[in-house]
Amino acid sequence: MMKKYAVFLLVLGGIFSSCSNVANNQEDYYSSRADSVLSLMTLEEKLGQLNLPAAGDITTGQAESSNIAEKIKQGKVGGLFNLKSASKIREVQRIAVEESRLKIPLLFGMDVIHGYETLFPIPLGLSSSWDMELVEKSARIAAIEASADGINWTFSPMVDVSRDPRWGRVSEGNGEDPFLGAQIAKAMIKGYQGDDLTLENTIMACVKHFALYGAPEAGRDYNSVDMSRQRMFNEYFLPYKAAVEAGVGTVMTSFNDIDGIPASGNKWLMTDLLRDQWGFNGFVVTDYTAINEMIDHGMGNLKEVSAMALKAGVEMDMVGEGFLTTLEKSLEEGKVSQNQIDEAVRRILIAKFKLGLFEDPYKYADPERSKRDVFNAEHRKTAREIASQTFVLLKNENNILPIKRESTIALIGPMADNKENMAGTWSVAGNFEKAISLREGLENAVEDKAKVVYARGSNITSDSVLESRVSIFGKPTYRDDRPEEEMIKEALAAAKNADVIIAAMGESAEMSGEASSRSDIEIPENQRNLMKALLKTGKPVIMVMFTGRPLAIKWESENVPAILNVWFAGSEAGDAIADVLFGDVNPSGKLTATFPQNVGQVPIFYNHKNTGRPLPEGEWFQKFRSNYLDVSNDPLYPFGFGLSYTSFDYSDIKLSAADLEGEQKLTASIELKNTGEFDGAEVVQLYVRDLVGSITRPVKELKGFQKVKLKAGESKTITFELTKEDLKFYNYDIDFVFEPGEFEIMIGGNSRDVKSAKINWK
Ligand code: BGC
Repeated sequence: MMKKYAVFLLVLGGIFSSCSNVANNQEDYYSSRADSVLSLMTLEEKLGQLNLPAAGDITTGQAESSNIAEKIKQGKVGGLFNLKSASKIREVQRIAVEESRLKIPLLFGMDVIHGYETLFPIPLGLSSSWDMELVEKSARIAAIEASADGINWTFSPMVDVSRDPRWGRVSEGNGEDPFLGAQIAKAMIKGYQGDDLTLENTIMACVKHFALYGAPEAGRDYNSVDMSRQRMFNEYFLPYKAAVEAGVGTVMTSFNDIDGIPASGNKWLMTDLLRDQWGFNGFVVTDYTAINEMIDHGMGNLKEVSAMALKAGVEMDMVGEGFLTTLEKSLEEGKVSQNQIDEAVRRILIAKFKLGLFEDPYKYADPERSKRDVFNAEHRKTAREIASQTFVLLKNENNILPIKRESTIALIGPMADNKENMAGTWSVAGNFEKAISLREGLENAVEDKAKVVYARGSNITSDSVLESRVSIFGKPTYRDDRPEEEMIKEALAAAKNADVIIAAMGESAEMSGEASSRSDIEIPENQRNLMKALLKTGKPVIMVMFTGRPLAIKWESENVPAILNVWFAGSEAGDAIADVLFGDVNPSGKLTATFPQNVGQVPIFYNHKNTGRPLPEGEWFQKFRSNYLDVSNDPLYPFGFGLSYTSFDYSDIKLSAADLEGEQKLTASIELKNTGEFDGAEVVQLYVRDLVGSITRPVKELKGFQKVKLKAGESKTITFELTKEDLKFYNYDIDFVFEPGEFEIMIGGNSRDVKSAKINWK
């Protein structure tokens, strides 16, 4: 099979003759190879390359007879997505490279969002580790597993900054901060793409959703986005830009409109900004049917919106087939040019060359490697380690945690014995039954040293309609139809002889994620009723909270003595949670999104503007100041917050100078001391405030962070370096400028509790 293919390649106009050029100028080399292929293509074949259908359910041994096979043979498909397994992908690839006229290999994409079969915490959880090495490692393992199974392209990282926990997709992003989001974007891309995309275990990344998808009005998914350019550039664009700078291979459009023009048809966004200003040289793929959706956005019929997307700078059409079915006509009518079509095809071919698919179309689908690499013990061990670094300890009254491996532990709650919901949203390749539930995790951890008694205690919600809406993707919640009181009674009976109660509560996996916006972000009332009953027993209660978003848990925070927020921690969740509950791992996660006191405060975020009528710190209300009558301005838990089993003491800030000029560097340091009894890790955060600007500036902006490990009693000097470059921002005219003046430098363990010092930078 390979031999025949190689002969075909030799025929393609001496494509292989100029190998020495590779070293000289890879881009030109790939481009000339792409041109050679392009010169052989009919218009229909060209439009085929721009077409990205979803795989549907092709079963092994039947690819040939699938609907998609016919299209592939006719050269009408450029890539496929969400097809799983090396054997199926080999079969489909074979059809492309043996049965289509030009034998152009296919791209195989997938939403490998937080791991492949070995699942890591959802991205919001992963971001809470603030550990870029771990983030990169998770993406590396995801790429190793996915590529073994034939995937060469992942629709990740998702880097949409979001300040709205009502929006279900906050779970898929990295929280509310653009600076942190940019570091994570780079780490993920490095993990997926490595330094060499031609290797068989690196895959092409796709940064999404460009742009501003995380800011839909009212937190309702797919809703309109409207914001000032200043806000876009200063507060939302940085992670996408960082991804482009990190060499991301592809960019996905977003569903929303921006300035009244849907992203998939927005030339300013896709061409002027992305290509011309940022220098992006990969290809742009739409989100799922996003071109067709421009009809409902009111942009015209399918022919018109498809032409609009191509002209805006979109290269690949996911699922909708608007390009495939209408561009020929638009070309005839002069609505699009041959050059625009060729340019789009060229970029997609270049990506295939970069991946090395023309050399070996089967390189990514290796059943032997799949057996060895997918969901192997080593990957699972790493996933467990990573997961334990993402949990955020929100409260720990009287140091209830960690607990000992002795006595009787009552494990109660709808998330306690629920394998399918451990992984969280977007776990396309995961095998949910293989996940470790919390119940299993605890049992594994205690062995025969302690007793774990279990009762479910409540359903996720008493609302069965809501529950059915969030069980669509094979993550059942196993509704129990008994009356609420009876389930509570059973739980109390189980807890009767226990020394400590662990209450596994919160959201199920699909209560966040795509099309899972909520207007009420509290823990459902029936779970709260269960919690009230458990608290009444007078026994120590620890809430292990599962969630894909910041929740409004004011009541829990006031009434439950200990809260460990575990997000959705992936396939090894149960073991990782047990590691932290028993103190084998000291929690060190910090929130990357603000937890509000109630949903009415949303959007609430740490890097807000000061307003002309700010409320003095520490106050709740003053008439004619910017505040609410019925809730203070404070978040429940601020950005950057997270406790540890130990405690950390911060000294005052030491600056290298209080007055600086031009290109000088500033170093700001503090002495950090572990003052408790456990070894631990602390995320030290550096914030800056620009005190006077030509436009209003945020009260704080994250400009640096370091995750520092300290033994009990140990101290360390933590130093940050800042240059003028770090203080730049986009001014009114969207020029990226440094404005001399006074700045406040702040260092602390969260965005609220900081030490501060002032500088004057001329
Ligand atoms: C989502 C994308 C995803 C795509 C393909 C869309 O609905 O918005 O994030 O990559 O589907 O599965």
